[in-house]
Order: sequence, then C-alpha cells, then structure tokens
Amino acid sequence: MRLSILGSGDASGIPRADCSDPACACVRARAGNGPARANTCARIEAAEACLAIDTGCGGFDCHGLLLTHYHSDHAGRREEFSARAWGPDDGVEIGAVGTPGVDIFPKPARVRQVEPFASVRLGEAVCTALPLNHPIPVYGWAVEAGGRRLAWLTDTYGIPAASLAWLAAHPCDLLCLDTTFAPGVARAPLKGHGDVPASLAAITASGARRALLIHIGHGMQTWLDAGGNLPEGVGVAQDGQVIDV
Ligand SMILES: [Zn+2]
Ligand SMILES: [Zn+2]
Repeated sequence: MRLSILGSGDASGIPRADCSDPACACVRARAGNGPARANTCARIEAAEACLAIDTGCGGFDCHGLLLTHYHSDHAGRREEFSARAWGPDDGVEIGAVGTPGVDIFPKPARVRQVEPFASVRLGEAVCTALPLNHPIPVYGWAVEAGGRRLAWLTDTYGIPAASLAWLAAHPCDLLCLDTTFAPGVARAPLKGHGDVPASLAAITASGARRALLIHIGHGMQTWLDAGGNLPEGVGVAQDGQVIDV
C-alpha cells in the first residue's frame, strides 16, 4: 500500500497569506527555505485501487474518494471530481450549505453517508470510518490492504475513546494525526484540532507502529523549526512525501 501526502498543512496552509510575523515559519516558506504546506489531503494506492482522502489539493484520477468532513479545506476544489465518494452524515441535506461559519461548503451530491465504524470496500482496500473530535461530524479513515493498515485522522483533537479502542484492537502500521498546534495552545480542544501533547498521548494509546503529524499550522511549524522535539517513531508529514506502508 502506498500513501502519497499531497498536502500536510492546516486550513490556511503555509505560508499563510495573512502572516507577516518575521519570526514565523511563513517567512522561510515564502523564501523557499522552509516547507510549504497545502491543505491536508492524500492519495492511497492499494493493489489496483486508488483512493483519495479529501479534495483540498484538487486533481482526481482515483476510483474513490474518502471525505473526512465538509469544511472547505477538505471538501472544496472538487469541481472535476466524478468518482464514488463516502463521508459522514452531518445532518445537512446533500447539496445544501450548512451553518455559515461552521459548515460552509455544500455537501457533494455524490457522497454516500456511512455509519460510524462501518467499512466500505474498494478493490482490495477496506476503509473504516472512525469518528473524531471536531465541531461538526468528522471521520478519520482506516485503510487496510495486503495485510497492512494505515489511518488518516484529521480534523480532530486527540482521538475519541471509541475510535481509540478500535485502533488499539486494530493496530496501524502508520497513523497520521492532526497536530495543528504546538504545545501550550490552550484553545486547541475547543477548536477541534490537535496539539503536540494530545497527539502524542493518542498515538501511544493507539498502539501504532509509526506516526506522522498532519494538518500542521504555522505556529506548529515555527515550533518545529526552533527544534521542537518529537519522540522516536513520530515524524512530521511533508507535501509530496510518498510512503510504502
Ligand atoms: Zn505564519
Ligand atoms: Zn474541519
């Protein structure tokens, strides 16, 4: 199974258009001296099946699309998309726009809403929907093929107990987890995005063999650039990174 990370940044990406802080990682990214990050999204190739997770990066030539939720940085830029799609039921009618400022993007007409912990099969790949912690319903997706398993978990603060129990019972070879914020960002739980301490605790509890942090914000990147330390087995995803799981 091959994971291609197409984007690894938060909703604003890196560099942020509105950031002029000379001490921020945005300055280095703009100058080409540090990582630029598009909206978090990925492609998975498993045997003959090709799956996309979210549409923030546009460009689809896959057989199926796994949507995490309907915020615009995850479900936007999908004009050209025509493959089958699965995602959560957020209580908003298909084609309708949700609450302004909360769920701002019309739900795609093609999406099939699946129940929590249900699995969908695409070729050899079995994809299981794992509910996460966010202001609107969100699924992480666990994808299993050829005896290997990976999980892509965004947007979320940590991992809720039921999904963590599922992961502990089905340990992943690679777990990718929302870590938008550096340590010490007190508002992180309210915003439904992870910080370093919450993510590290969840990764340990999940029993995953290896982890990559995704949905990186500019403050988190600045913390990393300043030498922010991560334990063995935990890395930071990069745009364009390709991993054979
Ligand atoms: Zn910045
Ligand atoms: Zn979101």
